[in-house]
Amino acid sequence: ERARLHRLRHTPAVTLDGAPVELLANIEMPGDAPAALEAGAVGVGLFRTEFLFMNRGGALPDEDEQFEAYRAAVEAMKGLPVTIRTVDIGADKPLDRMSLTELRHEHALNPALGLRAIRWSLAEPAMFRQQLRAILRASAYGKVRVLVPMVAHRREVQAIVEALERAKQHLREAAVPFNDVELGAMVEVPAAAMVMPMLLQHFDFVSLGTNDLIQYTLAIDRADESVAHLYDPWHPAVLKLIADVISAANAAGKHVSVCGEMAGDTAFTELLIGMGLRSLSMHPSQMAAVKQRVLRIDSQRVGRLVPSVLQSPDPASAWQQAIAVPARSA
Ligand code: PEP
Ligand code: MG
Repeated sequence: ERARLHRLRHTPAVTLDGAPVELLANIEMPGDAPAALEAGAVGVGLFRTEFLFMNRGGALPDEDEQFEAYRAAVEAMKGLPVTIRTVDIGADKPLDRMSLTELRHEHALNPALGLRAIRWSLAEPAMFRQQLRAILRASAYGKVRVLVPMVAHRREVQAIVEALERAKQHLREAAVPFNDVELGAMVEVPAAAMVMPMLLQHFDFVSLGTNDLIQYTLAIDRADESVAHLYDPWHPAVLKLIADVISAANAAGKHVSVCGEMAGDTAFTELLIGMGLRSLSMHPSQMAAVKQRVLRIDSQRVGRLVPSVLQSPDPASAWQQAIAVPARSA
């Protein structure tokens, strides 16, 4: 079994009919990078940098501390691409109760709809600038992509592009080396999925954050147990958005990945490949199982099964029935 897993790790993820599928790792700290390599990841598809900022009890990491962390991750990945996501904080990090007693306002009733992720970064320009510079500096040590969470508005896109340009200019003037970085947007708000032409015009790649896309499409708090039964990745509206985003990116020739939980859930591997997806980013522990799935997929066949399933009112059952028919008789 160990030998088999070892072989699997070095086996390229290619479908039965020869379509290569990129399997990337999600990491939270630079120290997670070795496990990603060990699992056979061909890069990091999502480095959730907010974990560098959490549970510190005091000062946030300055530019140098961030740079060291990003460089450590980049170096650990030995030249493989590392997708560094700017901070996604704000949704569920409330002030102390004691602090609130002095204020006239309660916390936002629904912080998931409040100042979060890129909204936070654009509201704290100094913090955003430091992070962008730290990421750019790390790009001198490998292949770095910058990924921005929760983008939805054209104004945000413009502000992001400008902030990155200013950070580069600052480094040039200081003669600090950096490499080209691709800039990507996470698609996690339904509005973003519906304005793909605008996003694709400004970003080099997109990454589907299905955890949030499901939450915002269905208006179901992803952390609320009382409505967990309604948090349904198989909802036809969710699947339609995902399929549309993949098609739009593929048609524009831009790289598209899924980095939410669906990427590591083998129940969705065939469906996502059938939608045209060729890049999945997941927790390293899920990689072996997903790769085993990929190796058994006929991408042409699953591609033909997708359209009718997307029309079904019950895609979960429709998909089960569709793929249950043996390939040869289909
Ligand atoms: C997502 O929303 O799917 C995602 C990958 O981001 P996070 O889980 O960190 O919100
Ligand atoms: Mg998210």
